[in-house]
Amino acid sequence: MPMPPYPVICYAPGCQNEAVYKIAARWSDGITGELKTYSLVCKACLPELYRQARIKRDGCRLAAGESLDVPAIFQLDRGERDRQLVRCEELEKQLAG
Ligand SMILES: [Zn+2]
Repeated sequence: MPMPPYPVICYAPGCQNEAVYKIAARWSDGITGELKTYSLVCKACLPELYRQARIKRDGCRLAAGESLDVPAIFQLDRGERDRQLVRCEELEKQLAG
């Protein structure tokens, strides 16, 4: 799904901050794959929504042959949306630990 050209607001209920991170996991059925987006979040809501994404991912029922990676955190830089998303592995480690 292409990103809209306007600022994206954080997915957390009641939060009006601009989203700066994308929480997403790589899904594949063995033939095709896609990045499944869980949330777009601001910095303040990242820990909570990342935690929720991991819970959701663990509860996800997969059909035979399907795989779903652990949710990853990507930086949502304005103007960088057409390029490769930058993964924040250090943040993932901090929040998962
Ligand atoms: Zn927020």
